[in-house]
This record gives sequence, structure tokens and C-alpha cells, in this order.
Amino acid sequence: MGLFFKDIKTMEDLYVHGLQDIYYAENRIVKALPKMIEKTTDGELKRGFETHLKETENQVKRLERVFAMHDRPAQGHKCPAIDGIIREAEDVMGDIEDQDVLNTAIIALAQAVEHYEITRYGALMAWANELGHRQSAKVLGETLKEEKATDAKLTAIAERKMNPRADKSRSGVARKKSAGSRKKAARSAGKKTTRSSARGSAARSAKKTGRKKSAAGRRA
Ligand code: FE
Ligand code: FE
Ligand code: FE
Repeated sequence: MGLFFKDIKTMEDLYVHGLQDIYYAENRIVKALPKMIEKTTDGELKRGFETHLKETENQVKRLERVFAMHDRPAQGHKCPAIDGIIREAEDVMGDIEDQDVLNTAIIALAQAVEHYEITRYGALMAWANELGHRQSAKVLGETLKEEKATDAKLTAIAERKMNPRADKSRSGVARKKSAGSRKKAARSAGKKTTRSSARGSAARSAKKTGRKKSAAGRRA
């Protein structure tokens, strides 16, 4: 059992409590990730989690090094926040049947974990610097970088794969918009010039291209 809240009196105590909190959280994540790996049916996402599981195991060791730098035993302090995030993830993963929806949900759940870690490591790094623990701050910063990279990777996978319908409707809007702006451009070009036949043909060809593109969009 780590520091009790009532025992936190100084910045150093707060910092040590923060280390114990994230040490508990990382160990909890090491146990939770295999379930996420098992549940996800997307290959890229699965591989991403496998990589992050290895990183997380290393992050636990990194924290043990930080504890050692402060001559303290590596000790966890129960973190209700990570327990809640993981419990919610397990509930949601257990209830969704549609594979695409499930994978999309898993990404968002994993990002909730990463965001929790990012806030913790961000604060710990700042406190370590403030307390003059430069070496610890550097080590904590290595993990912070990995958490941010994992979060960015998850966002990229979500945008590329998991929201195909959102992507399609977005590019549909873009198509309509660009055809519309071509017409508009053609119209305003026509206003500037007296050659109305040129204006008509520009508008017609823009219309045609727009039609062709949307037909291609429907086929895709
Ligand atoms: Fe981590
Ligand atoms: Fe916590
Ligand atoms: Fe992480």
C-alpha cells in the first residue's frame, strides 16, 4: 500500500504518491491489454496493442528505476480512475456484437486509458523537474512520449479504418462542395467577362464533372 492521502504534506510526497498511482495503473494495464488484444478483430489494431503491451511492460520497469533513483520501494497505490476506465472498457467490449462497431469502441476505450496516462506523466514530469529530479524527469518523459505516440496511432487507425461511413459522407460533402465552388467560380468568372458562351460552357463542364464524380462515388 502506498502513501495515504492524509500523509501527503509536501510536493515530494505528492510526487511519490503520483509515482505509486501510475505504477498501479501501468500494472493494471499490463493485465487488461491481453483482453483487448483478444477482443479486437482488426489486424492492425491487434498488432498495435501487442506493441503497446511490450512498451507497457517496459514502462513498469522504467518506473521501478525511478523508484530506485529515490531510494524507495516500487509500490502501487490503488487508482480508482484507471480501475473505472478499465471496468467500463470490459463492460462495453462484452456487450457489442457488430465487429466494426466493437473495434471502433475499443479504440476510444484504449484512448481513454492513454489520456489518463498522459495527464499523469505530464504532471509527474513537471513535478520531477520542479523538485530537481532531472534524471527521473527524463525517464518519465520517455514514457510520456510513448503514450502520446500510441494515442496518435489510435487516432490514425480510427480515422482511416473504423469510420468508413463517416469518411464516405465527408468526401461526399467535399465532392458536392467542390463541384459547387467550380460552378460558383465559373459564374463569377462569367460576370467579369462578357463572353457568356464561355461562362455557359464552364458551368456545363463543371456540372458534368460533378455528375461524373458523384457517379464514381456511388460505385465506390
Ligand atoms: Fe503506460
Ligand atoms: Fe489515479
Ligand atoms: Fe499506454
